[in-house]
Amino acid sequence: MLLPLQLHLTLPPWVGEVADTRRRYLGDEERVGLAIELARQNVARSHGGPFGAAVFHEDGRLVAAGINRVVPQTCSVAHAEMMAYMLAQQRLSSFRLNAGDNGRFILATSAQPCCQCYGATVWAGIDELLIGARGEDVESLTTFDEGPLPDDWIAQLERRGIAVRRDILREQARAVLADYGQGGAHY
Ligand SMILES: [Zn+2]
Repeated sequence: MLLPLQLHLTLPPWVGEVADTRRRYLGDEERVGLAIELARQNVARSHGGPFGAAVFHEDGRLVAAGINRVVPQTCSVAHAEMMAYMLAQQRLSSFRLNAGDNGRFILATSAQPCCQCYGATVWAGIDELLIGARGEDVESLTTFDEGPLPDDWIAQLERRGIAVRRDILREQARAVLADYGQGGAHY
């Protein structure tokens, strides 16, 4: 048996139609709104779990988008936030997005990061984290386990220069989770 030496993760082409690289996404609601729309479309198309995320430059340009790809890619780390971070880092050729004079970066996510994506957020090089639904929404409306987070998880991020704002379009974000939870699908 050959030892695997390569990894290939992709987003489906429709993501490039929903996420518009020509416009500027200004303000928290436009940014989280895109993440929620990606989550909604991912469920509608049965392409993965009910989660979306996007990395923006401070000027409003979209750098990269992400959706949950765990089941289609057979990859437990392929969460929306991870996909968005990895694609943004590849696009900017920078493993820390805000390194040097790159500017400031924002991650918008349809739901509070799980323990894995929380850890990734510490190192990704973002300056702001914008969140739609809360972790308790994810766990009450679906069967997903968010994993253990430190009690002071927001303070830990803010100590590292990452501003956290949550409950942005929370009801819209909750609606996507509820649709998924009630649909009985698991992908
Ligand atoms: Zn995650």
